[in-house]
Amino acid sequence: MLLREVEYARPASVQEALRLLGANDGARALAGGQTLINVMKARAASPDVLVDLQDLDDLRGVRDLGNGSVELGAMTTCSQLVRDEAAGARSILGEVAGRIADVQVRNRGTIGGNVCSNDPTNHFPPLLVALDATFTIRGAHGERTVPAHEFFLGVYMTAAGPGELLTKITIPPGGQDGFAAVTIGKDGTGIVTAAASLNGGARVAIGCVDAVPVRASAMEERIGADFSDERVRAAAEGLGATLDPPSDVHASADYRRHLAEVLAVRAVVAARERR
Ligand SMILES: Cc1cc2nc3c(=O)[nH]c(=O)nc-3n(C[C@H](O)[C@H](O)[C@H](O)COP(=O)(O)OP(=O)(O)OC[C@H]3O[C@@H](n4cnc5c(N)ncnc54)[C@H](O)[C@@H]3O)c2cc1C
Repeated sequence: MLLREVEYARPASVQEALRLLGANDGARALAGGQTLINVMKARAASPDVLVDLQDLDDLRGVRDLGNGSVELGAMTTCSQLVRDEAAGARSILGEVAGRIADVQVRNRGTIGGNVCSNDPTNHFPPLLVALDATFTIRGAHGERTVPAHEFFLGVYMTAAGPGELLTKITIPPGGQDGFAAVTIGKDGTGIVTAAASLNGGARVAIGCVDAVPVRASAMEERIGADFSDERVRAAAEGLGATLDPPSDVHASADYRRHLAEVLAVRAVVAARERR
């Protein structure tokens, strides 16, 4: 289907982008367009103005801050995360980015667009909750930071409100991270995903089972600092019963509950094994 007529702006600075977004209620940021253009074609969204972020070099790139801590510009693409040396400082980022869809989607799709669309099946929301990332949001009245568990508010809803831009994502020091997924076909959409990061204790987040990533807090507590197979498996028991996932053509709610337990264990074990 052809797009409805829409105005287009390509600002040269973040300030100008914020001015354009703030000046029109119907303005939307355009990053890689991999979600937004598709929902516009389907007439599920119909912005009046697209504010293209492509020329905002300030929002692009990865900075290695040391000890596995990295800063990701919102306009960094999945392909950049796969090949960027600085992203290698936290290797889970490239590993997960490389599992998303296909090379065309990865070349255009950005980490900022991935989290700002907050499709519950996207790979990065649970990963960034497990990594305890911080999101920097800029608006007309300045800048604020939001922890990952407060950034995701609902399906397609995040703490980055109208007229605001996500500018960067900061990952604290660490490096023992794991990700596990059952997808629809190889590198396809997630049926259930799980991410874990071990830093003293374990942080585990499950994706595709609710509108936002779900922390497996009871499992984390039961694991404590013992990452042995036996302890991790025992800790995951009962996780499924705490979840209320959807049932659809790809999986029943019960199967998703089962997968959540299996994948949470796999994610923690993968994190433990990471060198
Ligand atoms: C065929 C296909 C398969 C896919 N499969 C997967 C998958 O399996 N797993 C997965 O994780 N992802 C998947 N994706 C999603 C893809 O990885 C992109 O992350 C996603 O499409 C959005 O990124 P984008 O840069 O294209 O954002 P856009 O489509 O340009 O924007 C998406 C939304 O975010 C807003 N936005 C973008 N950047 C900002 C910003 N900096 N500040 C504020 N708001 C912003 C836009 O206004 C828009 O509402 C798939 C996409 C396609 C087309």
